[in-house]
Amino acid sequence: MSETETFDVAVIGGGIMGCTTALWLARGGMRCVLVERGGLCMEASGRNAGTLTMMFTRAALVPYAMRGRELWQDAADWLGRDVGFRSTPGLGLALNEADGERMRVETDERRDAGAPIEIIGANRAREIEPAISDRPVLAAHCPIDGYAYSYRIGAAYRRALVADGVALFEGHAVEGIEPVGQGFNIATGAGCVKARRIVLAGGVWLDKMAAWFGLDMPIICRVNQGTITERLPPILRTVIEVFGHLSLKQATNGTALIGTVLHWIDDASRAAEQIDQDRLVDNLTQAVNIAASVIPALAVGRAVRTWTGLEAYTPDNQPVIGPVPGVADAYIIGAMRSGFTAGPFMGRLLADTLLGRAPEMPIFEAAFDPARLLGMEGGEEALAKLAFA
Ligand SMILES: Cc1cc2nc3c(=O)[nH]c(=O)nc-3n(C[C@H](O)[C@H](O)[C@H](O)COP(=O)(O)OP(=O)(O)OC[C@H]3O[C@@H](n4cnc5c(N)ncnc54)[C@H](O)[C@@H]3O)c2cc1C
Repeated sequence: MSETETFDVAVIGGGIMGCTTALWLARGGMRCVLVERGGLCMEASGRNAGTLTMMFTRAALVPYAMRGRELWQDAADWLGRDVGFRSTPGLGLALNEADGERMRVETDERRDAGAPIEIIGANRAREIEPAISDRPVLAAHCPIDGYAYSYRIGAAYRRALVADGVALFEGHAVEGIEPVGQGFNIATGAGCVKARRIVLAGGVWLDKMAAWFGLDMPIICRVNQGTITERLPPILRTVIEVFGHLSLKQATNGTALIGTVLHWIDDASRAAEQIDQDRLVDNLTQAVNIAASVIPALAVGRAVRTWTGLEAYTPDNQPVIGPVPGVADAYIIGAMRSGFTAGPFMGRLLADTLLGRAPEMPIFEAAFDPARLLGMEGGEEALAKLAFA
């Protein structure tokens, strides 16, 4: 690592948010370094369920998610690789009247924000997806959902970043950042990186990054569990969200992927010690049973692999994007609900803003402003509220 060069910008964290921001900054002419403590897109960005959906996006993020989905569709053009994008209809399924009522309210909010979602009867849902049992009582339908393979994106980003001249430091954790003169000294185990600007893109570890500047920024961690089955004959033609329980899709190779929430914790650094093996098995069993009760043809499939991944939330369930409070030339991006869907667009918007270009959609919004989080209560109370949001 060169200790003499001062980069125009250093991006810390190589998930979707950091990789996309770095890519477009480099394409805009900035000399850019990306520092990632592991490998690119090995955390949330490479472990997620890959659903491209308007169904569980926050209403305020719907316009961004719709553009993000288009970017995944065109990944071969801007990223240089197809990442397995498939356009399918999306179905939200409610298993009881109370869930159905919540689904109606959320569907209205998302439709008002521009998503082409509508409430349909359970019978209509079965016409769209004949594999559905008679268990759901109500459904929501979105014709423009789909999926992509999140495990493919790390290699695609690496190739594109290198081709566009980004200096890539994988396997180097940033230990701290010190503002000096017109820039920053970024301390890593392998030496110091210097840059004029910084972008913090640390996913569930954003609170640790904010703490480098003495800021107390509550970030809450949702531990999600993904489970994949063996290859099955074609069963599903839609991506499904069983409201309040799980997401479900079948890839072109026949495997079905079930995504669920395992639990919520207030400090991601304790995630490993808090992931209890019994809980993993219980959650998996419950998810498989619900999936099979909604799609009976899945009951014959064996689950072959299960894993966890950590997803960042803020106490008010909005993303954090904007200047780091009180620190000139430092920016932060993350904690975005449905971040796989919207991620490539959000990173591009941030890059455009830093390059002094008018972003295609506003991104430094009051609702996303990092400053709003300072002093906001995290902990158990925020956690309990989010668990039901
Ligand atoms: C299991 C799971 C399923 C999901 N399913 C979906 C879905 O179906 N659809 C959807 O739209 N979204 C989904 N999401 C959400 C989506 O994956 C995330 O919103 C998105 O990937 C977040 O990207 P990120 O770049 O902010 O964070 P991350 O991908 O977590 O990247 C942060 C990076 O920062 C690095 N880092 C942290 N600290 C340091 C340090 N000190 N020095 C250097 N590097 C550091 C980490 O190693 C990591 O690579 C899911 C998430 C999970 C976990």
